[in-house]
Amino acid sequence: MEVDRVLLASPRGFCAGVEMAIKSLAWMTRVFEPPVYCYHEIVHNQVVVERFRQLGVVFVDDVDEVPEGAPLMLSAHGSPPEVVEAARARGGAVVNAVCPLVKKVHHEVKVRAAKGYTIVYVGHEGHQEAIGTAAVAPDAVHRVERLEELEALPDPEGPVAFLAQTTLAVDEWQILLDSARARWPDLWMPGTSDLCFATTNRQTALKTIAGHCDAVVVIGSANSSNTRALERTAITAGCRRVLRVNGATELPDDLSGTVGVIAGASAPEELVEAVVARLDARHGVEEIRAVDEDEYFPLPRELRDAVRHLAAAAAVAGLAPGGDPTAGGAPLPDDRELSAAVALAGLTR
Ligand code: SF4
Repeated sequence: MEVDRVLLASPRGFCAGVEMAIKSLAWMTRVFEPPVYCYHEIVHNQVVVERFRQLGVVFVDDVDEVPEGAPLMLSAHGSPPEVVEAARARGGAVVNAVCPLVKKVHHEVKVRAAKGYTIVYVGHEGHQEAIGTAAVAPDAVHRVERLEELEALPDPEGPVAFLAQTTLAVDEWQILLDSARARWPDLWMPGTSDLCFATTNRQTALKTIAGHCDAVVVIGSANSSNTRALERTAITAGCRRVLRVNGATELPDDLSGTVGVIAGASAPEELVEAVVARLDARHGVEEIRAVDEDEYFPLPRELRDAVRHLAAAAAVAGLAPGGDPTAGGAPLPDDRELSAAVALAGLTR
């Protein structure tokens, strides 16, 4: 295939929450005796999940499947409180890699429910983040996804809080917010919406290039909420052709003209590189940066301690320090210097 030009949206791909989760699991495979368990897919991307699976990580959908005392990671999407409790009761190390921005929404649900609010929560049915968030206060939360569902809600007696899954399409969420505000003018919502910076930045980047493209390729898995939001954002922006692909092998042969490329927050850059290589643009690739993004989330506290202990033990044993949790040497606890892409690329035993 040879298209005319590729416009590469930036920012794209791994967000700070996904970076933290991938590096956390990579560290866990070094810090703990195998097998390491992970509750649900670490992030919604098959390449990432498969890489860890090949390394011996066991993914489970029920913490009862985890043997007593085995190390367990809870995924970035956030887990219901009863799952966190059951995980801790198993007696092994538990690393909760919930993204801090999802944790913030859990906190908002907890506080508002305690104050007697009815919580209208916009989230996707069956998505792990929505399940985990609603479980914080199941009696107070009413999950809606579409305008008709919002309109069908009965009027609550007390005050209303309006919260959201972090990875929604901004334009779709805005329609629901406008409707909710018209109905409940005094509704409470956080000072800045629950939609996270990574979600909004990637959608902004996509809108920046969409009008200049004959087709847009969105890289990411079908079960990735922020990826699907990108797909719908491109359609809403008027893109003539929008394709969501897991990787380069799924690209059709008939793409032509200017092709835009973006990746969801859980898609590794290696997939972007493969897609761009396959498009083989005769007039080159232009990266369009819409927003600067340099957020960093540190490793979960319980893992930071374990990594520090491992580094100390390695130093006592006279091993040379190394900064890569996949490299086999003693890890250097300066996590900021390591990217998840590097950790992922080195995931072999
Ligand atoms: S998409 Fe947003 S909420 Fe989800 S892991 Fe990334 S930063 Fe966190």
